[in-house]
Amino acid sequence: MSRALPADLDCIVAVEQVTDYLEGALPPHARTEFEQHLVTCPGCVTYLRQLRAQIAASSTLAEQRPVPEEVTQELLAQGMPELQRSLEQLRERRTRPLARPG
Ligand SMILES: [Zn+2]
Repeated sequence: MSRALPADLDCIVAVEQVTDYLEGALPPHARTEFEQHLVTCPGCVTYLRQLRAQIAASSTLAEQRPVPEEVTQELLAQGMPELQRSLEQLRERRTRPLARPG
């Protein structure tokens, strides 16, 4: 009898603790138990890795804020005519999304 989901109670506990583990919020003994489980359980290692990548990706996105229009204009005013031209082309394309070539 085999299951796709972790049937092991250790796995269920580990999955519940993984967020706390990544945040460093687990008490030392729980942390040790969690790490010992990872040694024996590739599935939970994969899960931990995916979650870590997800957190890294979302925090990167949060840091990326759109450049304010004023800053863009400022930079353009300082002399980047080619960039300005391509930006204008992009804007034209965006404001006419249904336009077809030809
Ligand atoms: Zn596991």
